[in-house]
Amino acid sequence: MINSIKNFLNQYTGLLIRIDDVAENMNWSLMNKCETLFARYNIKPLLGVIPNNQDKELYIYEKNVDFWNKVRTWQRKGWEISMHGFSHVYDQETNKKDYFGYGGRSEFFGHDHETQISRIKNGLRKFEEEKINIRSFFAPNHTYDENTFIALKESGINNIIDGYGLIPYTKNNLNFVPQLFYKEIMLPFGVQSTQIHLNYWNENDYNNFETFISKNYNKIIDFDQCIEKINNNYFSKFINFTTKSALKSMRLFR
Ligand SMILES: [Zn+2]
Repeated sequence: MINSIKNFLNQYTGLLIRIDDVAENMNWSLMNKCETLFARYNIKPLLGVIPNNQDKELYIYEKNVDFWNKVRTWQRKGWEISMHGFSHVYDQETNKKDYFGYGGRSEFFGHDHETQISRIKNGLRKFEEEKINIRSFFAPNHTYDENTFIALKESGINNIIDGYGLIPYTKNNLNFVPQLFYKEIMLPFGVQSTQIHLNYWNENDYNNFETFISKNYNKIIDFDQCIEKINNNYFSKFINFTTKSALKSMRLFR
């Protein structure tokens, strides 16, 4: 019994590197450093690309006029390009009524189905024009409601890089890859994703990340490996349920 639990946990250990807020305007010097680092350890991250960035807070960063070419280069390397919202502008308050109960402002939560589907479809159209293949989505500020999920499914997107738990799971025909911590933390087991905001990093944060990667690169997995680890059996449901309660009370997330 103990051995079978051990085997199960060994099989379900991995970290997907998710980088948030990838757009024309971003901290390119740190992005370039990360690119070199990922090449050294053969890491294929998932990038949350904003298809139509209108977030003025991001405009203070250097603009890359060759941005979409860069995204295509990343995709050719096997990096996963994910859609991170549409414009990244928050125009709704969630008052903690959002799907995961995180609270804060939102680009999607609270909008009617028509508005949400048009934002998602316009985003997907931009990626299509730029010849970028999109299989997944995560909303700015982790904020969703039922309409967001309906609109995503209707647009052919079934993978969400967000959620509680320690094992990727399927709910209402959508796959969720858990995203638990604000900092990179490697738990002794579990499959989850990071959230990395290079724009908020200084050199010291980068150095800590480089040390983290040098110690844990063998546990870092790519998007396809994450999806292969989807498990909806009773044991993984139990683990996800208990971690949800524990993490909510410990406030380790976000
Ligand atoms: Zn964001």
